[in-house]
Amino acid sequence: MSANIHDLLRARATNPDKTAIETPDGQRITYRELYARAGRMARALVDLGVEPGDRVAAQIDKSPDAIVLALACFRAGAALLPLNTAYTLTELEYFLGDAEPALTLCRPGQLEAVRALSERLGLRAVESLGDRGDGTFLARVAQTSEEPPTVPRARDDLAAILYTSGTTGRSKGAMLTHENLSSNAEALVSLWRFTADDVLIHALPVYHTHGLFVATNVALLAGATMIFQPKFDADAVMAAMPRATALMGVPTFYTRLLEHPGLTRAATQHMRLFVSGSAPLLAETHELWRERTSHAILERYGMTETNMITSNPYEGDRIAGTVGFPLPGVSLRVAEPEGGRVLAQGEVGVIEVKGPNVFKGYWRMPEKTAAEFRPDGFFITGDLGMVDARGYVHIVGRAKDLIISGGFNVYPKEVESEIDAMEGVVESAVVGLAHPDFGEGVAAVVVRVPGASIDEFAIREALEGRLAKFKQPKRVFFVEALPRNAMGKVQKAALREAYKGAFQP
Ligand code: AMP
Repeated sequence: MSANIHDLLRARATNPDKTAIETPDGQRITYRELYARAGRMARALVDLGVEPGDRVAAQIDKSPDAIVLALACFRAGAALLPLNTAYTLTELEYFLGDAEPALTLCRPGQLEAVRALSERLGLRAVESLGDRGDGTFLARVAQTSEEPPTVPRARDDLAAILYTSGTTGRSKGAMLTHENLSSNAEALVSLWRFTADDVLIHALPVYHTHGLFVATNVALLAGATMIFQPKFDADAVMAAMPRATALMGVPTFYTRLLEHPGLTRAATQHMRLFVSGSAPLLAETHELWRERTSHAILERYGMTETNMITSNPYEGDRIAGTVGFPLPGVSLRVAEPEGGRVLAQGEVGVIEVKGPNVFKGYWRMPEKTAAEFRPDGFFITGDLGMVDARGYVHIVGRAKDLIISGGFNVYPKEVESEIDAMEGVVESAVVGLAHPDFGEGVAAVVVRVPGASIDEFAIREALEGRLAKFKQPKRVFFVEALPRNAMGKVQKAALREAYKGAFQP
């Protein structure tokens, strides 16, 4: 039997008249229309020369057609290669040159520039796809009424290539298979109890795994409705809540919603689930949210290469500061970063995972792929963490953010948690900076509550006696806001760069 995720999703949409996607301008796309459009779009892909196994690159604005495109690629047996809309033409050159897509789709305003670039790279087809039904590709879709059958796919055939954000070195294309996506969507629908009665507020970008696969595949597999919002806007999310049942967001969604005066128990009464992921949710945010709404945010953990790995329970304790338990079918262990020796419960090391969720490898990078898998097939996530006595997984930071000061390991999260708990502090980021004596010295970058007077001396003094000397920041800097990317991840590399000379004589 074909393992094509397109057919799995379509088979589950048992009510064709149900709204699959609703847009801010009042458009409602039923499941019948969604799959019919995906069929016509698959036809247009084939007409443009896309063959099974080919890549289709897309740097397009968020709209229901971005989802139709994903379905059309699956249907045609092609791998979708979604690209962050923030990438410049120079960056695009790397991705297109590396992936050699059979077709590139871009925003209508960029058509000429992307065509010129592609021509230079010797790539064949470039068309445009706008967010209002405009663009040369959608004009082709409008001309066809044919809906070709789904191309059969094996479980490990490629469904998508997602380039990792890669703060160091070149970005790598994570090859995701039909099985990776299907198994993860199945696990999450059942774990988070999604049904056709759900209405999901979708305010995430659709070029990243969170919005493209976690949110969308879960909603489509359940036959639920998505309220599509072009980007996160606290007013728009609040306005949708009385009709919605679920929100999937990054932590910044929740901190921004907490600043909204309309956020009350009554305003969230119709909602049954708030999910957070892609970056650590502060325990304080979890608690404030519970106080204001009486909902416990469900935090989960995953990455582009592995899809979702762990989740707090639907029923049972959702513990702030933890990412919960491994999903059914996913094996997780903690190991020594260097030798790979598996560590005991409670010990901090690198998190490794294995299961149907784990990607096939990095596109055209066999050495990088081999370096990130253990011989027994476990993928080395690069996240440092531990499993507590109750089995909850805790993340303490990225391995590359681990600070080694005077030979001692400092886990940034431990120091950040102490600082974050201080009166007058909104949040903090702890980084290691080159230090003449210690190799690396601990430095903290802190965001103060507006009007708060807490200063470097007060923070350092408060940490005396709470943390071992080697963990205490030797410098504290204050900023208005921490640098974050679109997924809410603090850009520690940017902080290390900004303060790199701080300990130099
Ligand atoms: P991405 O591939 O862009 O989804 O980034 C994956 C990385 O985000 C993971 O390796 C983690 O470092 C981080 N991440 C995702 N979810 C969480 C979470 N709930 N808590 C802490 N870090 C997270």
